[in-house]
Amino acid sequence: MSKHLDGRPKPVNPVWYRKQEWLQLACRCGHRAPLHIGALALQHELASTVRLYQVVERMGCHRCGRKPVGVEVKDRRR
Ligand SMILES: [Zn+2]
Repeated sequence: MSKHLDGRPKPVNPVWYRKQEWLQLACRCGHRAPLHIGALALQHELASTVRLYQVVERMGCHRCGRKPVGVEVKDRRR
């Protein structure tokens, strides 16, 4: 079993380790945002050692601006 890699509760993997995958952020307002991790890394010029949860901490909801309350790592957009 490698289920401990599913990213919950805190995705501690370095961003580049997960760059083919998707972050699914959920906000209290109901907004959900699938974000491609590789695209995020390029857009924000993230160092290879930055961890996913550190990225999430900087994100705000596109709709209301609050911090995401839930985060999942998925291997495909959904
Ligand atoms: Zn929101």
